Amino acid sequence: MLRIQDLFCTINNTPVLKGLNLNVKAGEVHAIMGPNGSGKSTLASVIAGDDKYDVTNGNVEFLNKNIIDLAPELRAAMGVFLSFQYPVEIPGVSVSNFIKIAVNEKRKQNGLEPMSSTDLLQEMKKNLELLKMDSSFLSRYLNDGFSGGEKKRNEIFQMSMLKPKLAILDETDSGLDIDALKIVANGVNSLRSSENAFVIITHYQRLLNYIKPDYVHILADGAIVKSAGPELALELEKKGYEGIIK
Ligand code: ADP
Ligand code: MG
Repeated sequence: MLRIQDLFCTINNTPVLKGLNLNVKAGEVHAIMGPNGSGKSTLASVIAGDDKYDVTNGNVEFLNKNIIDLAPELRAAMGVFLSFQYPVEIPGVSVSNFIKIAVNEKRKQNGLEPMSSTDLLQEMKKNLELLKMDSSFLSRYLNDGFSGGEKKRNEIFQMSMLKPKLAILDETDSGLDIDALKIVANGVNSLRSSENAFVIITHYQRLLNYIKPDYVHILADGAIVKSAGPELALELEKKGYEGIIK
């Protein structure tokens, strides 16, 4: 699904990723943990195709294709999805219009007919229910005036509509109360299959009680310095990063 080899990148000439390697297979869930400023969001942005970052070495392959030079929307059409750490507010664009355009643009890129408004609405309502979100969200402007938790839930709603092959969740659990956390985890688990994969960036072992990862990685100073099973998240909770990154 995803193969990242010896990836180096800079932002404004400052090196951030420094030789990062990561392999994700279909059906797997990978958790990425790491201190603030270690490069977790940068990694997510580089996979999604944010051109603020200059990739200076290495490559990113998605479905066996080098995607480094692809525009973000083409990566999205192939099945990459990023849930932002800080979702952007877009006043004037309703949630339903945003979803409709996103879903149908993706279908178009893949040679499919657009989904009818009725079918879309039905699918949106089904997914809103799954995420215990009120249908009044659909007519609100995207993230405009949403609480932190509502923004994060709305990201997962978008994910549930776009059905990505590779979903990267950047601290989607931060700022969620325990009920919302369970709902978000439920949303992820209901989408999980042998055909897709998740990269979950989190600071908290708590989320991993609800979404069982296959691998846990520690990202420190721009590279993955340790990888293990879910037990690594528990060890981290006990020892902190300093106890593990020597
Ligand atoms: P994390 O998500 O792990 O907390 P980030 O990927 O957001 O870390 O940031 C990694 C590093 O890149 C940080 O040291 C941050 O200060 C730096 N960085 C991010 N954006 C910029 C920028 N526009 N200019 C310079 N440095 C930046
Ligand atoms: Mg971050």
